[in-house]
Amino acid sequence: MSVIDISDKLQRHTSNKYKTRLATAIKQIVIHHSATRPISVSGQADAEAFARYHVIELGWPGIGYHYVIGKDGTVLKTNPNSVSSYHAGKANATSLGVCLVGVFDIKEPPQEQWEAALRLTRELMGAYGIPVERVIGHREVPAAKSCPGNRFDMDKFRRCLT
Ligand SMILES: [Zn+2]
Repeated sequence: MSVIDISDKLQRHTSNKYKTRLATAIKQIVIHHSATRPISVSGQADAEAFARYHVIELGWPGIGYHYVIGKDGTVLKTNPNSVSSYHAGKANATSLGVCLVGVFDIKEPPQEQWEAALRLTRELMGAYGIPVERVIGHREVPAAKSCPGNRFDMDKFRRCLT
């Protein structure tokens, strides 16, 4: 599948750096929504905004997610998978973070975006030997939020992966 790598174009902290890890440390995939309304079709301007927010406002080393998926299904690579970035609390060290741009508490994701998330997740499951039960929503980490949204059905997502 086509993935556009914009990781070098995103805001990074001038001194703080994410820890790196071996591929064998990656055991799960955590799905997020951005909980923001899309400002771009491909998601690129959204990813740039998340990176600025994470670095400038939160002081993180870089954007929290490894992948950002735009509302049209464009898949953007935003961090090397080898970094243990911040997106899922205690699951950070063992997971990859995939963020779909949008708010899915009231409405489900658009079909193209949902399908792109399935394709990317299948590819990552294959690359890292991750079983379907280790594909989880942020709220299942667990976390005190609805992420990836009350209308993002994680059971359906997992069924679609198999
Ligand atoms: Zn989340």
